[in-house]
Amino acid sequence: MKKRLILFLLASTLLALGACGYKVPVLPDESSQSIASASESTSAESISAESTSAESTSAESSQPEAEAKELKVHYIDVWQGDSAFIELPDGKCMLIDSGEYEYAGRVISLIDCLGYKKLDYVIVTHPHTDHMGGMQRVIENFKIGEIYMPEAVGDTGAFINLLEAIDNMGLSINIAKSGVEIPLSSGAKARFVAPVAIVEDLNNCSAMLHLSYGERSFLFTGDAEILEEETVTDNIDCDVLKVGHHGSYTSSGNAFLKKASPEIAVISCGKGNDYGHPHSDALKRLEKAGVKKIYRTDLLGNITVATNGKTLETVYGIKPSGYKWVLNIGSKKLHAAECDSAIEMKESNKAYSKRSLKELQELGYTLCGSCKPQE
Ligand SMILES: [Zn+2]
Ligand SMILES: [Zn+2]
Repeated sequence: MKKRLILFLLASTLLALGACGYKVPVLPDESSQSIASASESTSAESISAESTSAESTSAESSQPEAEAKELKVHYIDVWQGDSAFIELPDGKCMLIDSGEYEYAGRVISLIDCLGYKKLDYVIVTHPHTDHMGGMQRVIENFKIGEIYMPEAVGDTGAFINLLEAIDNMGLSINIAKSGVEIPLSSGAKARFVAPVAIVEDLNNCSAMLHLSYGERSFLFTGDAEILEEETVTDNIDCDVLKVGHHGSYTSSGNAFLKKASPEIAVISCGKGNDYGHPHSDALKRLEKAGVKKIYRTDLLGNITVATNGKTLETVYGIKPSGYKWVLNIGSKKLHAAECDSAIEMKESNKAYSKRSLKELQELGYTLCGSCKPQE
């Protein structure tokens, strides 16, 4: 199914572009649960990202192996967009969305500086660029395990580029839809609760993921609006809700929030965004539903919620640290951190890395001739 799905999505996208319209894909009803177990996974040797503000008790910067096993969700500040990076208790990791093209460096830097070299699971919730515009750049900077996407076709160059990159890398796509489980280990469980159906509005094709560990659970909603929320019949009870569609009034309906009954809500949106997200109607509904804490990336930057299966701890302001190199993810040049070219580099092309020169060269980076980086 996999190669065919990519080709089909690509062909559908090109057709849709040619017709200047949106085309709903009709795919043969094949089983989508073809999930090969990920091969060797890179564990996070150390967490060296530093946090500037702590909202709860425990410190955030030690060796994950030395701690009780934890699951950590980093809601990355990608301005007006979504990106969540998840450290799983078995040392593997998952990325849900990447934000826009110009924020890919933020996502790459955080993951790299947390010590990961491979993304075991990549989820694209839906083909809007504030969720997948940077995904091509992100996946080209890591080894990749499994990719999950809904059967929804985008009509942007970014979406075509992503499909082509997936194809060129010899990767395949697993369909994300209601009922599909991602087989995780160490007691973590992940299950898509939506989309139930593919509809014309891409927001309402969003892959929604329910992730649990021990007694705690997280719900990721993409840009699902009330229309899609109403189709969900699966269990969505959660402790931490990634609020749908950046806190828009079109999402977070009362019935959905009642079923989800989150204690913590995280809103991913950009400071001063044109849409006025988050909307006051959605905030009021969250409060009415009994949400105790609302965290917003526009106010706090990166937000991390960690659980050992029992407790929940929230830390915000984590930044990449401990890096040796500055990468130009556009030109694929690698610089020492103090190189003039690194200092002058456009933020949108910049990523920080602590990986070995050899690993980065294998990803296509060439060494700057003026600063001549050395280990
Ligand atoms: Zn969207
Ligand atoms: Zn969005």
